[in-house]
Amino acid sequence: MVRAMEILASYLSGTWTPGDGPATTLVNPATEEPVAIVYGHGLDFGRALAFGRDRGGPALRALTFAERGERLAALAKALHGAREELIELAIANAGNTRGDAKFDIDGASATLAFYADLARTLGSARLLADGEPVQLGRTARLSGQHAWVARPGVALLINAFNFPAWGLGEKLACALLAGMPVVCKPATATAHVTHRVVTLWVEAGILPEGALQLVCGPAGDLVDHLRGPDVLAFTGSSDTARLLRGHARVLAESVRVNIEADSLNSAVLAPDVDLGSEAGRLFLADVARDMTQKAGQKCTAIRRVIVPAERADEVVDGLRERLAAVVVGDPARDEVRMGPLATAAQQRDVRAGIARLAAATDEAYGGTGAINPVGIAAGKGYFVGPVLRRTADALGCDAMNDHEVFGPVATVATYSGDPELAAAIVARGHGSLVTSCYSNDKDWLARFVPVAAGSAGRVYIGSDKMASLSPGPGTALPQLQHGGPGRAGDGAELGAQRGLSLYLQRVALQGDASLLKGLV
Ligand code: NAP
Repeated sequence: MVRAMEILASYLSGTWTPGDGPATTLVNPATEEPVAIVYGHGLDFGRALAFGRDRGGPALRALTFAERGERLAALAKALHGAREELIELAIANAGNTRGDAKFDIDGASATLAFYADLARTLGSARLLADGEPVQLGRTARLSGQHAWVARPGVALLINAFNFPAWGLGEKLACALLAGMPVVCKPATATAHVTHRVVTLWVEAGILPEGALQLVCGPAGDLVDHLRGPDVLAFTGSSDTARLLRGHARVLAESVRVNIEADSLNSAVLAPDVDLGSEAGRLFLADVARDMTQKAGQKCTAIRRVIVPAERADEVVDGLRERLAAVVVGDPARDEVRMGPLATAAQQRDVRAGIARLAAATDEAYGGTGAINPVGIAAGKGYFVGPVLRRTADALGCDAMNDHEVFGPVATVATYSGDPELAAAIVARGHGSLVTSCYSNDKDWLARFVPVAAGSAGRVYIGSDKMASLSPGPGTALPQLQHGGPGRAGDGAELGAQRGLSLYLQRVALQGDASLLKGLV
């Protein structure tokens, strides 16, 4: 049930506080009706960060990994228990269809549950071994051992508007399991879901005091209070990322920063794949899903579709057919498969991106993205319909290769079928979160993957035999690293135990082998 409009308070230093100053109204992006208000000025962030460091940190670090894992399991259970309520909130505040909302909320619970399981394997240790002991002296008595230990700071988790549950879950699971208290700041426009999730967790009393705090509203001087042992984990646009990376306090205190930013992900069709085959159908389904799931507002979404020139017409026809079947409109309606963009600003940016592409490419589907959404009053909502463009100049098309259009928009670009050329086109995006390729040809893959992998955080290989098992390239799995080089921010999250390293400090221990053995 959607609640009456409420004020989203922040949870800082153990207290819910609405803040003051000018209000920001959160709206339903399908109807433009208000759903909640955030004030969020006048909050004492310096005190909150200190509260996390001094209260939450020691309490978390007193727990073993296994005990922290039990807390994560309880967070996952509480989240899952409120699934229906959260889906309603995501529909109302983020323009999600029911399917989009489930993707976000279930992604969060699954990630928390995954790290709860992983914690069991880490047992009762407080120091984690990094590699094997090494002999340092003439005998084995003098030994060295690298180890990981929790950083004695606070993890500031700043998230983007598109995944208010999952974006939080993936960062928070790793930080808490590593032993770092968390201050999370969702994007203001879609903060309702995060606010409700944190409220549920606080009410359930799962975590020690100070281990979890929430900032609703603008960041204000939050970053000014970071210190050396803290971690800033950011997901959002590269403009904000640049600002944070160069922030005076971050530089002065050498605050560890992880950036997850824009990405121009590619899907590459190899010449051996027939579109009627399992791999060919997977390719078309993956591209169409990525264009329209969450209205294309996924950092991992396919933006560049690289296909052999002789296949381009066939690919465009296949995608047209799929896109035409997507009902766009009020995400609360069952028949609707794609809702609006999250904000008026996003709609403006996406329209500008389409115009930029239109000046450099040819139309394939959807025109300018203008659409009459089902079940919506004329002129209301931040809707943009699916738009497909095409170009024969894959390497030279700056509009396609240099600008992320964060909406239901992709461009089909042609190449000769040569794997090295395909990899060069992928690299032209200056670093991506995920590159997908579709081939059953080992020789083609052996020439494409090693080159293309240098500019991607993850390479997804679609083929006949895995097609029926695949969640698609757009799903960030906790088992695998999420993050990519260059434009994508050069960050790394998740990847099972690797995801903890952002929140852990590596230390080299040196001494008597038998004493070291008792520590790690
Ligand atoms: P954004 O405008 O950069 O905002 C991201 C977050 O940063 C929000 O919580 C925002 O808060 C906060 N913020 C803005 N200015 C800040 C400042 N000066 N100090 C501290 N925090 C600040 O990005 P967005 O529009 O929400 O997200 C869209 C972008 O995120 C896309 O480009 C997409 O590619 C990227 N993204 C990347 C990934 C990934 O994993 N690589 C995942 C999802 C999205 P307010 O909302 O209060 O301004």
